[in-house]
Amino acid sequence: MEERFHQAPCGFVTMTSDGLMKSANETFLNMLNYSAQDVIEKHIESILSAANKFFFHTYFYPFIRLYGHVDEMYLSLKSGSGQDIHVLLNGRRYEQDGVELIDCVFVHMRKRIQYEQELRNIKTKLEEAYKAKDEVIAELQALHRENEQKRQELIVLNGQLERLATTDTLTGLKNRRFFQERLAASIALFAEKASPCSLCIVDADHFKRINDTLGHDAGDRVLKQLAGIMQAGSREIDTVARFGGEEFVILLPGLEEQQVKAFAEKLRSAIELAPWSECAVTVSIGTATLTESDTDNTIITKADRALYASKAGGRNRVTHAAELKD
Ligand code: GH3
Ligand code: MG
Ligand code: MG
Repeated sequence: MEERFHQAPCGFVTMTSDGLMKSANETFLNMLNYSAQDVIEKHIESILSAANKFFFHTYFYPFIRLYGHVDEMYLSLKSGSGQDIHVLLNGRRYEQDGVELIDCVFVHMRKRIQYEQELRNIKTKLEEAYKAKDEVIAELQALHRENEQKRQELIVLNGQLERLATTDTLTGLKNRRFFQERLAASIALFAEKASPCSLCIVDADHFKRINDTLGHDAGDRVLKQLAGIMQAGSREIDTVARFGGEEFVILLPGLEEQQVKAFAEKLRSAIELAPWSECAVTVSIGTATLTESDTDNTIITKADRALYASKAGGRNRVTHAAELKD
Protein backbone atom coordinates (compact mmCIF):
# COMPACT_ATOMS: atom_id res chain seq x y z
CA MET A 1 0.00 0.00 0.00
CA GLU A 2 2.86 2.34 0.87
CA GLU A 3 4.45 1.58 -2.52
CA ARG A 4 1.18 2.19 -4.36
CA PHE A 5 0.67 5.43 -2.47
CA HIS A 6 4.06 6.71 -3.60
CA GLN A 7 3.61 5.57 -7.22
CA ALA A 8 -0.04 6.70 -7.47
CA PRO A 9 -0.93 8.32 -10.81
CA CYS A 10 -1.32 11.71 -9.10
CA GLY A 11 0.63 13.83 -6.64
CA PHE A 12 -0.46 13.53 -3.05
CA VAL A 13 0.32 16.01 -0.26
CA THR A 14 -0.92 16.24 3.27
CA MET A 15 -0.65 19.64 4.89
CA THR A 16 -1.78 21.44 7.99
CA SER A 17 -4.75 23.77 7.88
CA ASP A 18 -2.39 26.72 7.43
CA GLY A 19 -0.47 25.14 4.54
CA LEU A 20 2.56 23.43 6.09
CA MET A 21 3.34 20.33 4.04
CA LYS A 22 3.65 17.26 6.27
CA SER A 23 4.03 14.48 3.69
CA ALA A 24 4.24 14.13 -0.12
CA ASN A 25 4.29 11.08 -2.35
CA GLU A 26 6.99 10.42 -4.97
CA THR A 27 4.72 11.25 -7.89
CA PHE A 28 4.37 14.77 -6.47
CA LEU A 29 8.14 15.09 -5.88
CA ASN A 30 8.95 13.76 -9.37
CA MET A 31 6.34 16.01 -10.96
CA LEU A 32 8.06 19.05 -9.43
CA ASN A 33 11.59 17.77 -9.40
CA TYR A 34 11.97 18.13 -5.64
CA SER A 35 13.40 15.90 -2.96
CA ALA A 36 11.39 15.19 0.19
CA GLN A 37 13.58 17.66 2.17
CA ASP A 38 12.66 20.40 -0.25
CA VAL A 39 8.99 20.23 0.65
CA ILE A 40 8.42 18.50 4.00
CA GLU A 41 7.81 20.99 6.79
CA LYS A 42 7.85 23.74 4.11
CA HIS A 43 4.93 25.94 3.43
CA ILE A 44 2.90 25.19 0.27
CA GLU A 45 3.25 28.87 -0.62
CA SER A 46 6.99 28.40 -1.06
CA ILE A 47 6.23 26.58 -4.33
CA LEU A 48 3.49 29.00 -5.49
CA SER A 49 3.89 32.11 -7.64
CA ALA A 50 2.80 35.48 -6.14
CA ALA A 51 -0.46 35.46 -8.10
CA ASN A 52 -1.23 31.90 -7.02
CA LYS A 53 -0.47 32.74 -3.41
CA PHE A 54 -3.05 35.48 -3.48
CA PHE A 55 -5.54 33.08 -5.09
CA PHE A 56 -4.77 30.49 -2.45
CA HIS A 57 -5.52 32.94 0.33
CA THR A 58 -8.69 34.31 -1.14
CA TYR A 59 -10.12 31.02 -2.35
CA PHE A 60 -8.48 27.84 -1.10
CA TYR A 61 -8.34 28.52 2.68
CA PRO A 62 -11.77 30.18 3.04
CA PHE A 63 -13.44 27.59 0.83
CA ILE A 64 -11.98 24.54 2.51
CA ARG A 65 -12.74 26.03 5.93
CA LEU A 66 -16.33 26.60 4.91
CA TYR A 67 -17.09 23.44 2.91
CA GLY A 68 -14.39 21.04 3.94
CA HIS A 69 -13.21 20.45 0.37
CA VAL A 70 -11.98 22.15 -2.78
CA ASP A 71 -12.49 20.69 -6.26
CA GLU A 72 -10.65 21.22 -9.52
CA MET A 73 -8.68 24.25 -8.53
CA TYR A 74 -6.34 25.23 -11.29
CA LEU A 75 -2.86 26.27 -10.17
CA SER A 76 0.66 26.55 -11.40
CA LEU A 77 3.45 25.37 -9.10
CA LYS A 78 7.14 26.18 -9.31
CA SER A 79 9.33 23.15 -10.00
CA GLY A 80 12.81 22.64 -8.58
CA SER A 81 14.23 23.70 -11.96
CA GLY A 82 12.16 26.92 -11.97
CA GLN A 83 9.49 25.79 -14.46
CA ASP A 84 5.77 26.45 -14.08
CA ILE A 85 3.97 23.16 -13.62
CA HIS A 86 0.24 23.42 -14.25
CA VAL A 87 -1.83 21.27 -11.97
CA LEU A 88 -5.41 20.59 -10.98
CA LEU A 89 -5.91 20.40 -7.22
CA ASN A 90 -8.58 18.58 -5.23
CA GLY A 91 -8.37 19.00 -1.44
CA ARG A 92 -10.26 17.58 1.54
CA ARG A 93 -10.09 18.71 5.16
CA TYR A 94 -10.24 16.18 8.00
CA GLU A 95 -9.31 15.81 11.63
CA GLN A 96 -6.85 13.29 13.07
CA ASP A 97 -6.18 13.06 16.76
CA GLY A 98 -7.73 16.50 17.22
CA VAL A 99 -5.44 18.03 14.56
CA GLU A 100 -6.91 19.51 11.42
CA LEU A 101 -5.18 18.34 8.22
CA ILE A 102 -5.79 18.74 4.48
CA ASP A 103 -5.16 15.98 1.93
CA CYS A 104 -4.43 17.33 -1.55
CA VAL A 105 -4.33 15.51 -4.87
CA PHE A 106 -2.44 17.14 -7.79
CA VAL A 107 -2.93 16.11 -11.40
CA HIS A 108 -0.36 17.36 -13.89
CA MET A 109 -2.12 19.32 -16.65
CA ARG A 110 0.55 18.96 -19.32
CA LYS A 111 -1.81 17.52 -21.97
CA ARG A 112 -4.54 20.05 -21.39
CA ILE A 113 -2.10 22.93 -21.58
CA GLN A 114 -0.69 21.45 -24.77
CA TYR A 115 -4.18 21.15 -26.28
CA GLU A 116 -5.02 24.67 -25.24
CA GLN A 117 -1.80 25.92 -26.80
CA GLU A 118 -2.58 24.04 -30.01
CA LEU A 119 -6.09 25.48 -30.00
CA ARG A 120 -4.66 28.96 -29.48
CA ASN A 121 -2.23 28.39 -32.37
CA ILE A 122 -5.03 27.24 -34.63
CA LYS A 123 -7.12 30.24 -33.60
CA THR A 124 -4.21 32.59 -34.35
CA LYS A 125 -3.66 30.95 -37.72
CA LEU A 126 -7.37 31.20 -38.49
CA GLU A 127 -7.38 34.87 -37.55
CA GLU A 128 -4.36 35.45 -39.77
CA ALA A 129 -6.03 33.57 -42.61
CA TYR A 130 -9.24 35.62 -42.19
CA LYS A 131 -7.21 38.81 -42.12
CA ALA A 132 -5.34 37.76 -45.27
CA LYS A 133 -8.67 36.89 -46.88
CA ASP A 134 -10.12 40.31 -45.94
CA GLU A 135 -7.03 42.00 -47.36
CA VAL A 136 -7.32 40.07 -50.62
CA ILE A 137 -11.02 40.94 -50.84
CA ALA A 138 -10.24 44.62 -50.17
CA GLU A 139 -7.53 44.49 -52.83
CA LEU A 140 -9.94 42.86 -55.28
CA GLN A 141 -12.57 45.49 -54.55
CA ALA A 142 -10.00 48.25 -55.13
CA LEU A 143 -9.00 46.62 -58.43
CA HIS A 144 -12.65 46.29 -59.36
CA ARG A 145 -13.23 50.00 -58.64
CA GLU A 146 -10.14 50.92 -60.64
CA ASN A 147 -11.29 48.73 -63.50
CA GLU A 148 -14.75 50.32 -63.44
CA GLN A 149 -13.19 53.80 -63.41
CA LYS A 150 -10.96 52.89 -66.36
CA ARG A 151 -13.98 51.48 -68.18
CA GLN A 152 -15.88 54.75 -67.64
CA GLU A 153 -12.85 56.74 -68.82
CA LEU A 154 -12.68 54.51 -71.88
CA ILE A 155 -16.36 55.13 -72.62
CA VAL A 156 -15.75 58.90 -72.40
CA LEU A 157 -12.59 58.60 -74.52
CA ASN A 158 -14.40 56.47 -77.09
CA GLY A 159 -17.14 59.10 -77.22
CA GLN A 160 -14.55 61.82 -77.75
CA LEU A 161 -12.79 59.71 -80.36
CA GLU A 162 -16.08 59.02 -82.11
CA ARG A 163 -16.85 62.77 -82.15
CA LEU A 164 -13.36 63.57 -83.41
CA ALA A 165 -13.63 60.95 -86.13
CA THR A 166 -16.91 62.39 -87.38
CA THR A 167 -16.29 66.11 -86.85
CA ASP A 168 -14.75 68.77 -89.06
CA THR A 169 -12.18 70.56 -86.93
CA LEU A 170 -12.53 74.05 -88.41
CA THR A 171 -16.30 74.43 -88.36
CA GLY A 172 -17.35 71.83 -85.77
CA LEU A 173 -19.85 70.43 -88.30
CA LYS A 174 -20.00 66.74 -89.21
CA ASN A 175 -17.37 65.65 -91.72
CA ARG A 176 -17.77 64.14 -95.16
CA ARG A 177 -17.35 60.55 -93.94
CA PHE A 178 -20.22 60.92 -91.47
CA PHE A 179 -22.40 62.51 -94.17
CA GLN A 180 -21.72 59.60 -96.56
CA GLU A 181 -22.84 57.12 -93.88
CA ARG A 182 -26.06 59.02 -93.23
CA LEU A 183 -26.75 59.35 -96.95
CA ALA A 184 -26.36 55.57 -97.38
CA ALA A 185 -28.74 55.03 -94.44
CA SER A 186 -31.30 57.45 -95.94
CA ILE A 187 -31.16 55.65 -99.29
CA ALA A 188 -31.71 52.31 -97.53
CA LEU A 189 -34.68 53.79 -95.64
CA PHE A 190 -36.12 55.15 -98.88
CA ALA A 191 -35.82 51.71 -100.50
CA GLU A 192 -37.43 50.03 -97.51
CA LYS A 193 -40.15 52.48 -96.48
CA ALA A 194 -40.24 55.05 -99.29
CA SER A 195 -39.28 57.72 -96.72
CA PRO A 196 -38.57 60.89 -98.69
CA CYS A 197 -35.22 62.63 -98.32
CA SER A 198 -33.57 65.61 -99.98
CA LEU A 199 -30.06 66.95 -100.27
CA CYS A 200 -28.60 70.47 -100.51
CA ILE A 201 -25.09 71.34 -101.62
CA VAL A 202 -24.18 74.83 -100.44
CA ASP A 203 -21.14 76.57 -101.96
CA ALA A 204 -19.82 79.99 -100.93
CA ASP A 205 -19.78 82.45 -103.81
CA HIS A 206 -16.45 83.87 -104.92
CA PHE A 207 -14.84 82.62 -101.77
CA LYS A 208 -11.42 82.81 -103.31
CA ARG A 209 -11.83 86.58 -103.44
CA ILE A 210 -12.51 86.73 -99.70
CA ASN A 211 -9.30 84.83 -99.06
CA ASP A 212 -7.38 86.95 -101.54
CA THR A 213 -8.56 90.30 -100.22
CA LEU A 214 -9.02 89.68 -96.48
CA GLY A 215 -6.65 86.79 -95.88
CA HIS A 216 -7.02 83.12 -95.09
CA ASP A 217 -7.90 83.68 -91.41
CA ALA A 218 -10.80 85.94 -92.34
CA GLY A 219 -11.85 83.23 -94.80
CA ASP A 220 -11.82 80.70 -91.95
CA ARG A 221 -14.00 82.97 -89.80
CA VAL A 222 -16.50 83.27 -92.65
CA LEU A 223 -16.61 79.48 -93.00
CA LYS A 224 -17.30 79.11 -89.27
CA GLN A 225 -20.03 81.73 -89.35
CA LEU A 226 -21.57 80.04 -92.41
CA ALA A 227 -21.54 76.73 -90.54
CA GLY A 228 -23.30 78.35 -87.57
CA ILE A 229 -26.09 79.79 -89.75
CA MET A 230 -26.66 76.45 -91.50
CA GLN A 231 -26.72 74.54 -88.25
CA ALA A 232 -29.10 77.02 -86.65
CA GLY A 233 -31.44 76.84 -89.68
CA SER A 234 -31.60 73.02 -89.66
CA ARG A 235 -33.50 70.51 -87.58
CA GLU A 236 -32.04 68.00 -85.15
CA ILE A 237 -32.58 65.13 -87.61
CA ASP A 238 -30.81 66.93 -90.47
CA THR A 239 -27.14 66.27 -91.15
CA VAL A 240 -25.14 69.43 -91.79
CA ALA A 241 -21.63 68.55 -92.93
CA ARG A 242 -18.58 70.11 -94.51
CA PHE A 243 -18.16 68.43 -97.86
CA GLY A 244 -14.77 70.02 -98.55
CA GLY A 245 -13.26 73.53 -98.86
CA GLU A 246 -16.06 76.11 -98.92
CA GLU A 247 -18.65 73.54 -99.86
CA PHE A 248 -21.25 72.11 -97.47
CA VAL A 249 -24.00 69.48 -97.67
CA ILE A 250 -27.28 69.23 -95.78
CA LEU A 251 -29.21 65.96 -95.71
CA LEU A 252 -32.88 66.54 -94.97
CA PRO A 253 -34.93 63.42 -94.13
CA GLY A 254 -38.67 63.70 -94.82
CA LEU A 255 -38.39 66.64 -97.24
CA GLU A 256 -39.94 66.47 -100.75
CA GLU A 257 -38.97 68.68 -103.69
CA GLN A 258 -41.10 71.72 -102.81
CA GLN A 259 -40.16 71.57 -99.16
CA VAL A 260 -36.43 71.37 -99.83
CA LYS A 261 -36.67 74.26 -102.29
CA ALA A 262 -38.38 76.36 -99.60
CA PHE A 263 -35.79 75.31 -97.03
CA ALA A 264 -32.88 76.13 -99.36
CA GLU A 265 -34.34 79.50 -100.31
CA LYS A 266 -34.82 80.40 -96.66
CA LEU A 267 -31.24 79.40 -95.93
CA ARG A 268 -29.84 81.34 -98.91
CA SER A 269 -31.72 84.43 -97.78
CA ALA A 270 -30.62 84.03 -94.13
CA ILE A 271 -26.99 83.88 -95.27
CA GLU A 272 -27.32 86.88 -97.54
CA LEU A 273 -28.93 88.93 -94.78
CA ALA A 274 -26.66 87.76 -91.95
CA PRO A 275 -24.64 90.51 -90.21
CA TRP A 276 -21.27 89.53 -91.71
CA SER A 277 -18.33 91.00 -89.88
CA GLU A 278 -15.76 90.56 -92.67
CA CYS A 279 -17.64 91.28 -95.93
CA ALA A 280 -20.87 90.45 -97.74
CA VAL A 281 -21.27 86.69 -98.21
CA THR A 282 -23.67 84.78 -100.39
CA VAL A 283 -24.04 81.14 -101.30
CA SER A 284 -25.31 79.19 -104.26
CA ILE A 285 -27.33 76.06 -103.53
CA GLY A 286 -28.08 72.96 -105.56
CA THR A 287 -30.76 70.61 -104.28
CA ALA A 288 -32.04 67.17 -105.26
CA THR A 289 -34.72 64.83 -103.90
CA LEU A 290 -34.22 61.06 -103.73
CA THR A 291 -35.90 58.94 -106.40
CA GLU A 292 -36.13 55.15 -106.64
CA SER A 293 -33.26 54.91 -109.10
CA ASP A 294 -30.83 57.02 -107.04
CA THR A 295 -27.61 55.85 -105.47
CA ASP A 296 -25.43 58.01 -103.23
CA ASN A 297 -23.35 58.98 -106.26
CA THR A 298 -26.27 59.92 -108.51
CA ILE A 299 -28.05 62.07 -105.92
CA ILE A 300 -24.81 63.95 -105.19
CA THR A 301 -24.18 64.40 -108.92
CA LYS A 302 -27.72 65.72 -109.39
CA ALA A 303 -27.37 68.23 -106.54
CA ASP A 304 -23.95 69.21 -107.84
CA ARG A 305 -25.31 69.87 -111.33
CA ALA A 306 -28.07 71.96 -109.78
CA LEU A 307 -25.41 73.89 -107.85
CA TYR A 308 -23.51 74.46 -111.09
CA ALA A 309 -26.70 75.80 -112.63
CA SER A 310 -27.10 78.23 -109.69
CA LYS A 311 -23.53 79.41 -110.22
CA ALA A 312 -24.08 79.72 -113.96
CA GLY A 313 -27.36 81.52 -113.37
CA GLY A 314 -25.59 84.31 -111.49
CA ARG A 315 -24.90 82.87 -108.00
CA ASN A 316 -26.76 83.63 -104.72
CA ARG A 317 -29.62 81.41 -105.84
CA VAL A 318 -31.21 77.97 -105.45
CA THR A 319 -31.75 75.35 -108.15
CA HIS A 320 -33.46 71.99 -107.75
CA ALA A 321 -32.19 69.12 -109.90
CA ALA A 322 -35.73 68.48 -111.15
CA GLU A 323 -35.69 71.90 -112.86
CA LEU A 324 -32.71 70.95 -115.03
CA LYS A 325 -33.11 69.75 -118.58
CA ASP A 326 -31.16 66.53 -119.21
P1 GH3 B 1 -17.32 80.09 -106.88
O1 GH3 B 1 -18.26 81.19 -106.60
O2 GH3 B 1 -17.32 79.69 -108.31
O3 GH3 B 1 -17.52 78.95 -106.00
O4 GH3 B 1 -15.89 80.68 -106.60
P2 GH3 B 1 -14.94 80.33 -105.39
O5 GH3 B 1 -13.87 81.33 -105.36
O6 GH3 B 1 -15.76 80.20 -104.17
O7 GH3 B 1 -14.46 78.91 -105.80
P3 GH3 B 1 -13.02 78.34 -105.99
O8 GH3 B 1 -13.21 76.86 -106.12
O9 GH3 B 1 -12.35 79.01 -107.11
O10 GH3 B 1 -12.24 78.69 -104.71
C1 GH3 B 1 -12.54 78.13 -103.45
C2 GH3 B 1 -11.56 78.68 -102.47
O11 GH3 B 1 -11.82 78.26 -101.15
C3 GH3 B 1 -10.15 78.24 -102.78
C4 GH3 B 1 -9.58 77.77 -101.48
O12 GH3 B 1 -8.34 78.32 -101.16
C5 GH3 B 1 -10.61 78.23 -100.48
N1 GH3 B 1 -10.66 77.36 -99.34
C6 GH3 B 1 -10.89 76.05 -99.36
N2 GH3 B 1 -10.86 75.58 -98.08
C7 GH3 B 1 -10.59 76.64 -97.27
C8 GH3 B 1 -10.42 76.82 -95.87
O13 GH3 B 1 -10.51 75.87 -95.08
N3 GH3 B 1 -10.17 78.05 -95.38
C9 GH3 B 1 -10.03 79.13 -96.21
N4 GH3 B 1 -9.80 80.30 -95.68
N5 GH3 B 1 -10.17 78.98 -97.53
C10 GH3 B 1 -10.45 77.77 -98.07
MG1 MG C 1 -17.26 78.67 -104.01
MG1 MG D 1 -16.44 75.17 -104.33
